[in-house]
Amino acid sequence: MTMPQRTHQYFHASLAERDPLVFNALEGEKKRQQGQIELIASENSVSAAALEALGSTITNKTVEGYPANRFHGGADFADVVENAAIDRAKKLFGCAFANVQPHSGTQANQAVFFALLQPGDVVLSLDLAAGGHLSHGAKPNQSGRWFNIVSYGVDRDTGRINYDDVQRLAEENKPKLIISGGSSYPREYDFARMRAIADSVGAVYLVDMAHFAGLVAGGVHPSPIPIADIVTCTTTKTLRGARGGLVLTNREDLAKKIQSAVFPGVQGSAHLNVIAGKAVSLGEALTDEFKTYAANVKANAQLLAATLQKRGVAIISGGTDTHLVLVDVSSKGLTGQQAQDLLGAVSITSNKNPIPFDSARPSEWKGLRLGSSAGTTRGFGPAEFEAIGNMIADLFDAEAADTREATAAKVRHTVAELCKAFPTYS
Ligand SMILES: *Cc1c(COP(=O)(O)O)cnc(C)c1O
Repeated sequence: MTMPQRTHQYFHASLAERDPLVFNALEGEKKRQQGQIELIASENSVSAAALEALGSTITNKTVEGYPANRFHGGADFADVVENAAIDRAKKLFGCAFANVQPHSGTQANQAVFFALLQPGDVVLSLDLAAGGHLSHGAKPNQSGRWFNIVSYGVDRDTGRINYDDVQRLAEENKPKLIISGGSSYPREYDFARMRAIADSVGAVYLVDMAHFAGLVAGGVHPSPIPIADIVTCTTTKTLRGARGGLVLTNREDLAKKIQSAVFPGVQGSAHLNVIAGKAVSLGEALTDEFKTYAANVKANAQLLAATLQKRGVAIISGGTDTHLVLVDVSSKGLTGQQAQDLLGAVSITSNKNPIPFDSARPSEWKGLRLGSSAGTTRGFGPAEFEAIGNMIADLFDAEAADTREATAAKVRHTVAELCKAFPTYS
């Protein structure tokens, strides 16, 4: 019996044949990634192997629940994949429990809130304007709408968290949950001090290591696992994995609450193709190659910051301990938006960002956030990151000197050469 033509088409026709619009957009995106220098601190490139797992037929499988305890039949391979992701996450971060189902970092945090808090409970977290994250209590997010959020900030002169302030706010407000972590804070957090503060008021201590999880995995950043009650992260960003979230803990009592908070608390069926992608990425992060990668990410960010500083560009907190560099572009008379546009015009991708004590209006923000993780994945080393820093400074200086066209043309050429010399996916 031959397969009916229509069924044959369904299972075998390529994306290009069946849907040229989507195919062309995806090809365009692949070329865009190949042809630009990615400096957005939250971005990275997954391996070809992880991409293959993401695009696999396990996406068809519906499972609710956890390995060996599913609501649906036919879950044998699903269990293999999810157990691999769990085991690798536990080994990588040295923790007793891992939930690998959160669809994203935001959902991981939402599950923690759901597991521990009642609406109206007090949460103490890093102010969004000082580098915090939406899911830690920003007004437009569910966390900010349903919980009573108290924010701590950073010192104006040092750009670093003021822990005496955190202690005072904790005593005054008696939070149930205290959070470390953010999206544009370039420095290490003092986990031990935060632990002591949480203990002094009986709060649970959550570290959201979304940005620096890969640096922890690679051994170039202190691990919050032995200190915090719960650790959440994204699997993207420095961890360089398929897009999603993790919740990790060593506390059995909390692990039970987290399991039921992720499913059925805030999520339904698991995205198994993504969990397969996460398993592959977590396996890669266990290799020596990844340790080298993580060390390079940090060294490259520090070199990028130092290069910019040498050229008179102000860096918030004077440098970085991570992959992330927060630039104060007002030191060159620019707004974040102007700087982002200047770089964008020469195929260097970045994002405007508030700096501490910045305007509430995005159009007036003075910050530009840069990161070294994606470039380092591509193979950029010290020579390339120094060149990138100098190109950025050239573009900034050319605005004041009114030589913008010539400078942009020169930089555009160098960017194209670099992208050609360090190809990504074939
Ligand atoms: C990126 C990030 C998240 C959430 O990530 P999504 O996967 O985009 O939801 C959570 N917390 C912090 C600190 C982050 O930087």
